[in-house]
Amino acid sequence: MAMEDNIKLLAGIKASLDAVSPVELGVNKHSEIVRLLYEICKRENIPVAAVLGSIGIEGMIKGGKGGFFRKLKSSLMARRYHQGRAGKDTHLMPVVLEAEETRDCGWNGRLDPFRIFIEKDAEGMPLSARIVRSFPKARVSIVRNLPEALKICGRPGAKDAYPMRMDNVFIVTAKAGLIKKCPCSPKCVGCGYLVLNMGFGCPMGCDYCYLKAYTDIPGILFPANVDDFLEELSVLDRKAGPCTRIGTGEFTDSLALDRYTLYSEALIPFFAGLKNLVLELKTKRADIDTVLCQVPNRNVVLSWSLNTADMSALYEKGASTLDERLHAAGKAAEKGFDIGFHFDPLIFHKGWEESYADLVSKVFSVPSVREKCRWVSLGTLRYSPGLKEAFEKDRPDLSAYYEGEFFTDLDGKLRYDKSLRSMMYRHMAGCIADSGVNAAVYLCMETEEAWRASGLKAGQMFGSAV
Ligand code: SF4
Repeated sequence: MAMEDNIKLLAGIKASLDAVSPVELGVNKHSEIVRLLYEICKRENIPVAAVLGSIGIEGMIKGGKGGFFRKLKSSLMARRYHQGRAGKDTHLMPVVLEAEETRDCGWNGRLDPFRIFIEKDAEGMPLSARIVRSFPKARVSIVRNLPEALKICGRPGAKDAYPMRMDNVFIVTAKAGLIKKCPCSPKCVGCGYLVLNMGFGCPMGCDYCYLKAYTDIPGILFPANVDDFLEELSVLDRKAGPCTRIGTGEFTDSLALDRYTLYSEALIPFFAGLKNLVLELKTKRADIDTVLCQVPNRNVVLSWSLNTADMSALYEKGASTLDERLHAAGKAAEKGFDIGFHFDPLIFHKGWEESYADLVSKVFSVPSVREKCRWVSLGTLRYSPGLKEAFEKDRPDLSAYYEGEFFTDLDGKLRYDKSLRSMMYRHMAGCIADSGVNAAVYLCMETEEAWRASGLKAGQMFGSAV
C-alpha cells in the first residue's frame, strides 16, 4: 500500500460521506466519522461504499436529519470496536495525510551527519575528538551551548526535527539529570528502574517510537563528560539497594551508536567494580562488537527488544532482524554476558498467539541463552494521544494500529482493552514458563489491575535507589 492509495481512500471517504449525509455535519462530527470509516476500510481492506452499505446507511438517511450523526457514529463504533466499551474514550482524531512518504525507510547501521556541533565545554574531550574523526565530511561548529546550536539549525518543531535526526550530531556536557528514576507512567506499577541519560535520539525508525512526537532536537545528542556520569554512579551505588537496575535506553538505543561513542568501553569495566547497581544495555541491533570484545561481569546485562520476524520487518525499520538479534544474544551469552529480553511492544494481529509462542520457544531454545537470561519484560503496544496520527501522516502501512482496538487508559495512554492485554500477558507468561527459562518476568508500564489479571506478581523484584 502506497501513501497515494491512502490519500485516495481518504478523499473517497470524505466525498462519499458528503454525498450521503442529509445534514451538514460540524467539523468535529465530520472528522470523527471520517476517522471511523478510514480505520474500518483499512482494517477490513474494503471500499467505503461497502462499509456504508453494510451498516444500512440508506435507512439512516431515510430517517432524516434528526439523529443521523448519532445513529451513524454508533453503527460505525460497533463495527470498529468489537470489544464494545461504549462511552469509553477511543480518541477519534482527524485523519491528516501527507503526500510525501517518510524518509525513515531504514538505517544501515552507520551515521553520516552533515554537521557536528560541539559545546565549548566539550571541546577537546576524547568523545568530541572521536566523533570528529569518525565523520571527516561533516562541518564542525563550536557553539556556546545547545540552544545556540539549535538556533543555527532553525529550531524546527517536533514534526520536522524527527526526520532530521541523522543530519546533525550535538556534543554536549550534560550538567543536570545525569541519572533519574524511570518516569514510568502515572498510575502504573514501576519496577525501580533508573535511567542514565547518555544520549538522546535514535537512528532507527520504529513505527511506535514516542520520540517521533517528542523530540525537538534535529539530530543525535551525545554527552562528552563521561567522567561526571561515572562519578555520579559511584555515589549512587553506595546508596542503592542490591540489584538496582539502571539503563541508558530511555531516549536512545543503548548500543546502536556505540561504535562511535564507545560508551560501553567506559561503562562495562566501571560497573564491574560496583556493588549494587546493574547496568542494562538495551538494543535492537546485532552489531555489538564493541561490547563483545570486553570482559563480561555480573553487573552488566545486555538485552534485546524482540518481536516476531514479521512485526519487526513491518514496524522496526533500521533494526537488526530477529535472527540477527538472536544470534547476537547467543554470542553474548556464550561469551559469558548476562542477558535479558523485552517482548515489547506485543502487537495484536491475526494469529498472535501462535506467532508469539513460536517466538518465545525460538528465543529460549538455546541452552546458554536460557541459562544467562536474568529478566524478561512484557508490554503491549501503547501510545500517547497524537502518536498514531503523527505516524499515519507519512507511513503508508500502519495496520498494527488499525487491527487493534485502543482505548484511553488510566494514565491517558491508549492501550488495548484490559481483557485482551491480560490474555496476551498470560499467554506470554505461560510460554516463557514452558520454555524452561528461570528469569524474572515483569510487565512494563502497566496498571496494578493488569498485573493482577496477568497472573504475574507485582512488586519489587529488583532493587531500588534510596
Ligand atoms: S515498568 Fe517500565 S516504564 Fe515503568 S519503571 Fe520499569 S522500566 Fe520504567
